[in-house]
Amino acid sequence: ARIVDPGGDEDERRLEVALRPKRLADFPGQPRVRDQLGLLLEAARRRQRPPDHVLLSGPPGLGKTSLAMIIAAELEQPIRITSGPAIQHAGDLAAILSSLAEGEVLFLDEIHRMARPAEEMLYLAMEDFRVDVVVGKGPGATAIPLELPPFTVVGATTRAGLLPAPLRDRFGFTGHLDFYATADLAAILTRNATLLRIDSTAQGIDEIAGRSRGTPRIANRLLRRVRDYAQVHGKDVVDLGAARAALALFDVDESGLDRLDRAVLDALCRRFGGGPVGLSTLAVAVGEEPDTVETVAEPYLVREGYLVRTPRGRAASALAWKHLGLTAPATAVG
Ligand code: ADP
Repeated sequence: ARIVDPGGDEDERRLEVALRPKRLADFPGQPRVRDQLGLLLEAARRRQRPPDHVLLSGPPGLGKTSLAMIIAAELEQPIRITSGPAIQHAGDLAAILSSLAEGEVLFLDEIHRMARPAEEMLYLAMEDFRVDVVVGKGPGATAIPLELPPFTVVGATTRAGLLPAPLRDRFGFTGHLDFYATADLAAILTRNATLLRIDSTAQGIDEIAGRSRGTPRIANRLLRRVRDYAQVHGKDVVDLGAARAALALFDVDESGLDRLDRAVLDALCRRFGGGPVGLSTLAVAVGEEPDTVETVAEPYLVREGYLVRTPRGRAASALAWKHLGLTAPATAVG
């Protein structure tokens, strides 16, 4: 896996548990979402009622799962965790819903990937706190309504646009998470270094934060690699020298681009004169599947303005040329 992959695997998610902030006040960054959620939760507390259902949207690794856990902790309620892909049949969801306690928080990660029949069951449950349990099969089947105690759904999605409108409408509050400012990432890293008993200097932390693509999950991963490097080199402190050397070893440059990102830009500029060039041609040039280039490398390159999608294909911006140390042609965009 790429070191700058914003998604995490099972092992990494287990490692992350210890680092998750526990309360809203300990959650650095995302000031808007934090303030909005704070208000929602405080109002619910005063009314002694579960809050509206909450939808959290935004790219992977920005803290949606962490916020769901914080919501439950702030409400002093248990949390049930599942995900869209795990719910392939309405029956899977019915089993979960019918076992929820009053006030419990149900976290549905990747909610846009839930099966359609389950989605319809979820609308009803969110709106009326009721599920229709179907008993029997064929023409003799009957639906028995089952009342549910009030609970709170926290849904998370990387693609809010993929959510059908009726489902989106059931959420009383939507919080959109955005990439973190470098200073916020540095605050997160400083806290985590302390939790992990890692000695660090401010410059070391800033160097890692600046290369983490605005994503706490990536920042945490880079911190662990720099720590490895420092330990193996007998220094045991995450300082500027260790950060630079370790990140060079892992091919993460000053702007957070990795080898694949740079290969894409390099091919665009050196082989195709800056483009525009079709996705599949570009993918062949870097020896990757078009899908990999499109979903793994492109989002960050586009967001940071290195690469532009045009109707005639992908084009390098002036920033891309500059990043490679090349002179941009007068026709380069940006
Ligand atoms: P998502 O669900 O959006 O993919 P997670 O909540 O799993 O993201 O967060 C990924 C990792 O980043 C976790 O280790 C978490 O502790 C850390 N993280 C995310 N946001 C923050 C934050 N604001 N402060 C501290 N750590 C954070």
